[in-house]
Amino acid sequence: MSAAQNLCVLGATGSIGLNTLDVAARHPQRFRIFALSANERMDELAQLCLRHRPRYAVVAQAAQADTLARRLAPGLTEVLVGQQGLEHIAAHAQTDCVMAAIVGAAGLVPTLAAARAGKKLLLANKEALVMAGPIFMEAVRTHHATLLPIDSEHNAVFQCLPDSFAGDLRGHGVRRVLLTASGGPFRDVALERLRHVTPDEACAHPNWTMGRKISVDSATMMNKALEIIEAHWLFGAAPEQIEVVVHPQSVVHSMVEYADGSVIAQLGNPDMRTPIAHALAYPERIEAGVGALDLFRIGRLDFTAPDFTRFPALRLGYRALREGGTSPATLNAANEIAVAAFLQGRLPFLAITAVIEAVMDALPPHQLASLDDVLGADAAARRQAERQLETMTVKP
Ligand code: NAD
Ligand code: MG
Repeated sequence: MSAAQNLCVLGATGSIGLNTLDVAARHPQRFRIFALSANERMDELAQLCLRHRPRYAVVAQAAQADTLARRLAPGLTEVLVGQQGLEHIAAHAQTDCVMAAIVGAAGLVPTLAAARAGKKLLLANKEALVMAGPIFMEAVRTHHATLLPIDSEHNAVFQCLPDSFAGDLRGHGVRRVLLTASGGPFRDVALERLRHVTPDEACAHPNWTMGRKISVDSATMMNKALEIIEAHWLFGAAPEQIEVVVHPQSVVHSMVEYADGSVIAQLGNPDMRTPIAHALAYPERIEAGVGALDLFRIGRLDFTAPDFTRFPALRLGYRALREGGTSPATLNAANEIAVAAFLQGRLPFLAITAVIEAVMDALPPHQLASLDDVLGADAAARRQAERQLETMTVKP
């Protein structure tokens, strides 16, 4: 085997970041932790630096950098700050592989920097691709980056496509991509009850342990809406080729349906270390610390159609994809503002998608030709969502 790959983990203290470090640490001959980043939880970042001894650590603010540097042995790890620091480690000549695991729009610029530097890019940060789809994919193509999906559904689809797949579904005899969805914690909760659910209830996902933002996205099914758009960009799937299938056990991670009637599925325990290990070692297979799938214990696999009335976010996802241009960036930014307001107790659960739809109605999409267009649409949608919140916020 060749020399160890230098790994850069953007968002190292998060759920995906920690799972990535867990898998990498099982294979020290294959992976060296070259750079880590975190926005908060500085104690945790300090521990990770002491354990993995990266060449760089990136934090959000200069004050955090000073505190962190004092806790590390001199010469061990250079501490960098802010977006510039993130871009530096993502595009560094010695970085071989970048795990993009920052949550939300904050991850866009460093993730794009990794694509433009032609890196092997492991994409967990779906929001980056949703916001900037055409620009992102163009950067991947132009700079010959290797883009591997970490989202369990997209990683599953990737595994179910032929090795020769090059972005043309019909050319490979694919009829549809079937994205599975657990339905989140509120799949069967009475609609009336949803008016009063708390952030902790929304974050208690039945099958997965994740960061709070994506947990709320799973509860509204906005996560699946973002994943529909993600599937479009990753696999060249038209909206009518993407079907959402509710599958409460989260064992089938997604499927690909072929013209001859074959449906190929990828199954496994709901543990993000499987797609992470798959992408880290691709095209080889490595141990991920994930136990064998016990089909006898699982016993049955259920599939139902999604409920578009209960989960209007799904409709908004297809709408944004069909509208194109800045519409997905608007959807994503409005969602980030609404979810943050819900997590702060300022907005009722059912108002999250109402805010997003109002923002989409108020801001008609326009063309997306540059990163500035994306950032402009993101900022405009955030401002509009804040205005919308004033009319819908819960007054204490
Ligand atoms: P998380 O909240 O657990 O971690 C987020 C990480 O990003 C942390 O390290 C945090 O410090 C960093 N971060 C947050 N805001 C930042 C900012 N403004 N600037 C720089 N860094 C910032 O989130 P997560 O659950 O690990 O999810 C990360 C990404 O992976 C998300 O895009 C999510 O949609 C995607 N994803 C997660 C899972 C999962 O199982 N957790 C599954 C599929 C996809
Ligand atoms: Mg997913």
